Amino acid sequence: MRIAMCASEVVPFAKTGGLADVAGALPVALEKLGHEVIIIMPGYKETRYPKSLSCRQAGEIRKLSADIAFSSIGENIKAYFIKNDAYFNRDGLYQDKKGDYKDNLERFTYFCRRAIVLLKEINFRADIIHVHDWQTCLIPVYLKSIYKEDPFYKKMRTILTIHNIGYQGIFPKDKFPKLALDWSLFDMKGLEYYGQINLLKGGIIFSDTITTVSPTYSKEIQTEEFGFGLEGVLSERKDSLFGILNGLDYSIWNPESDKFIARNFSCGSPQGKNKNKEELQKLCNFPVTNTVPVLGIVSRLAEQKGFDILREAIEDICKLNLQLVILGTGEARYHELLGKIAKKYPKTISLHLKFDDPLAHKIYAGSDIFLMPSRYEPCGLGQLISLRYGTIPVVFKTGGLADTVNKDNGFVFVKYGKTDFLKAIKSALKAFRDKELWACLMQRAMKGDFSWEKSARQYIKLYKDASAG
Ligand code: ADP
Repeated sequence: MRIAMCASEVVPFAKTGGLADVAGALPVALEKLGHEVIIIMPGYKETRYPKSLSCRQAGEIRKLSADIAFSSIGENIKAYFIKNDAYFNRDGLYQDKKGDYKDNLERFTYFCRRAIVLLKEINFRADIIHVHDWQTCLIPVYLKSIYKEDPFYKKMRTILTIHNIGYQGIFPKDKFPKLALDWSLFDMKGLEYYGQINLLKGGIIFSDTITTVSPTYSKEIQTEEFGFGLEGVLSERKDSLFGILNGLDYSIWNPESDKFIARNFSCGSPQGKNKNKEELQKLCNFPVTNTVPVLGIVSRLAEQKGFDILREAIEDICKLNLQLVILGTGEARYHELLGKIAKKYPKTISLHLKFDDPLAHKIYAGSDIFLMPSRYEPCGLGQLISLRYGTIPVVFKTGGLADTVNKDNGFVFVKYGKTDFLKAIKSALKAFRDKELWACLMQRAMKGDFSWEKSARQYIKLYKDASAG
């Protein structure tokens, strides 16, 4: 099939979060399965000088026309960059220190229209246009309105993937004329949402198929608790809504070949993990011992990630016989709180308030247990990485965590709160003391298949169904 992947960020060209990982890894997996894929994204300031994001190699960036540049990833995937200095030549992707850019609606409206026109310019007759999050939601809206009668686009089908329903692209009504859409689309059955423009809502209504990044999250977002106000719109489209787990990029996250860790190891020879634990304990100034479990956290420090219950539980956790290493950045209140507690329990907590990719690898490899008590989690990468590294996750039963962790490979608590979180940690500590049981858990964890290939096959099925339908 011919697939055009349109996203506002794509590894290795620009990244602020998990969306970029998906938009970069899925095309490569699709290409490996024999499909023809192109990527279309904005040409940001950082795109012109691409950092080595997550080790994926890209070709050099070249000029195609006055406002289009291109590069390549994978075997032969062309990535097109839509340039517009006034809109994209800025330090941030969506915001600066003062907050979201005031012209985000104009920026991404421009991107969506230009992306549609680009398809015709390069004569890419896509079977599927796969769009991601609110920034690209106008593409399906335009295809079903402005370009409805254009034969070039007529057979193209659209798929929208929602990575986090908490971000919807909401703008004031008075900007509606900038979309160049008929006012009839500004109503409850269109882009209007309580008197404002909601781009994600437009994407949900106008896309042929909608996906989100785990099966459980696809159900959760149809409920008031998790739907952020769009649960009704999603429920109406429930027959076209699917959950496909994100894959993990095993070329980056693989204990057998990971360059950042002290010793490589694998399912077949897991002994090397001990050396990583030892090195991590040294790095954290913890006593080096194999009998005390090391617990790891690598996370944004945000309430979504469960830091509210971690705050309540932390004193109790520190009184248990364990070592806890935390790597993260985020909300100031958690920086402060964790700083205080780490000072109080220096032998138990090692705190690293920064973004540090090599250290993250060391923590995944050297810890015994990984804590991820997220209140909600569309998919989650942390638990997938820790499973791969034989580090047993303790998670709350939600979203992608519920779909990937169970009693065979980890510890799951079902009532969100300090008490059950602590109980789950204590169960993990008890299991850790039983060496045979622990070795079995590790084996099962490491054997799990969360490869992109598996996810890509599921996307292909949806693409085919959408195309046929
Ligand atoms: P998010 O909601 O933040 O995208 P995920 O679990 O899906 O959560 O992905 C987070 C990714 O970012 C993981 O790969 C994790 O290892 C990484 N990460 C988070 N915080 C840090 C940090 N402070 N330093 C290095 N890597 C981090």
